[in-house]
Amino acid sequence: MKDRISVREVRLVLTNRCNFRCYFCFNEGYATEQRDRTLNPSDYLRAVRHLVVKYGATKVRLSGGEPTLDPELPHLVGSLLSEFPGLDIGVTTNGGLPDKLRELLRGDALGRLQVNVSLPAAKAAEFRAMTGSGKLHEVLQSIAIATQSKSRVKINCVVTSRSQAAADVVHAGAQLNVPVKLLCLNVNPHNEQQIGQHGEAVASGVVSIQRMISDLGYRHEGGSEATLFATRGNHQLEIVDCSTSDPIEYFRRFRALRIYFDSHVAVTGDFDGYRRPFDPAAPEAAIDSLIFDIAGAIGNEAN
Ligand code: SF4
Repeated sequence: MKDRISVREVRLVLTNRCNFRCYFCFNEGYATEQRDRTLNPSDYLRAVRHLVVKYGATKVRLSGGEPTLDPELPHLVGSLLSEFPGLDIGVTTNGGLPDKLRELLRGDALGRLQVNVSLPAAKAAEFRAMTGSGKLHEVLQSIAIATQSKSRVKINCVVTSRSQAAADVVHAGAQLNVPVKLLCLNVNPHNEQQIGQHGEAVASGVVSIQRMISDLGYRHEGGSEATLFATRGNHQLEIVDCSTSDPIEYFRRFRALRIYFDSHVAVTGDFDGYRRPFDPAAPEAAIDSLIFDIAGAIGNEAN
């Protein structure tokens, strides 16, 4: 049955605004525009409610752009924690605004969120070259704040052709005793040219990452098609393979849908065929329509 397809994860894209300018940004050409959000927290909640009740979603991630730039983030997180206490709720941040993160992780959110802090490089010059920001100290401070708040914490590291930068991040994660998630991205139309300037395509990264982590003394522990695990002592790595431009393959791997600040629902931001505008007051029809089409493409394998 096409309407019985399951969705594991809801990604709430709260804003396109960002205080960094990463050269590999999936938001390239998008993050710099100052388009205002057209959804409010109750619209997001309505969409999440529908995806939980009808499609069995168990995980919500709030991201951007940079989500801590959204003044309503604490309110939305509080509402999600209150309405869905059993859900795995998390925030993905670039960590450049530690005071905002500290504020977020107080009160009801204390110890209840998954916090993923992006760290593409652990050395100051490389960090600045990759992010256009000199805020490495603030990012490390954010990791410390999240750890001290008893949140579940991971370091997200997009692996580019600068593989030594990723190796440095793995080393830093081990020193901090924080798991590291290595993300292999696909080259997309927005940033293809910039990635090209730096050599090998990011999409070729999975095999070279596996080699790199073996060289660092990590042992591969298996995993799924999309996510592999490796450990060295108590330190854990995840290698996440996002390197596909096929939206159905992407959905198959991650079972995730994104709700965008400008009233869209999509598999990712880039695949026009799997993106629907919706009326913020009634997002259910757009979500159902998109899932129906995805299920049609996947067929019986979706069930
Ligand atoms: S922090 Fe994230 S959204 Fe901001 S520029 Fe970097 S990759 Fe893009």
